[in-house]
Amino acid sequence: MSPDRPSIGVLALQGDVAEHLVALERAGARPSTVRRPAELAAVDALVVPGGESTVLDKLARAFGLHEPVTERIRAGMPVYGSCAGMIMLADRLVDGSEGQRTFGGLDVAVRRNAFGRQVESFEEDLAFPALGEAGLGEAPLRAAFIRAPWVEQAGPGVEVLARVGTGPAAGTVVAVRQGVLVATSFHPEITGDLRVHRLFVAMVARAAAAGRSATGAPAVRG
Ligand code: GLN
Repeated sequence: MSPDRPSIGVLALQGDVAEHLVALERAGARPSTVRRPAELAAVDALVVPGGESTVLDKLARAFGLHEPVTERIRAGMPVYGSCAGMIMLADRLVDGSEGQRTFGGLDVAVRRNAFGRQVESFEEDLAFPALGEAGLGEAPLRAAFIRAPWVEQAGPGVEVLARVGTGPAAGTVVAVRQGVLVATSFHPEITGDLRVHRLFVAMVARAAAAGRSATGAPAVRG
């Protein structure tokens, strides 16, 4: 395995799986689908795509993935969650459906379908300073929101990466990072801007290299 092309799974139970597979490949990862615990065990990191979080929750339990994903997150696996994926990473849900569970890991409260009916779906150019800091360019990020959640409250260890800039929802938090967990309310996989995926791939590569040096394995492999 090349440390520069980390193996990243896409949770392939429901939602826009194909778009993330393409974006990850183009962003320099080796993507694969994850539907079974054995497929999860084979990847360095995971993307939880957008879709419908209540369905993702039910299917994750039905496919025997809820516990394994939760455990891998606790053990330090990097995960990127987009939209419904952000919901799945939240420790706390506002307006969740009865009995809805999440994988958790992010010390945030996330409100489902937060933007209300009038602005259920919209696009906006967001300031996203972490992209510039990572050398990925200072340009604003085009973000597509589709019945999106927002981050209503975040614990002290959570870094805010982006907020809505204009309109009635101005100031609301729509992208966060906590350690190796990243979540966005929006869908970068459908706007053609690969920078969020590149940021995540770089994080995964760094985490994999750190893991290898900690276990004494060679830090660079062919
Ligand atoms: N509203 C959806 C949910 O609650 C998320 C929408 C999306 O992922 N585009 O899961």
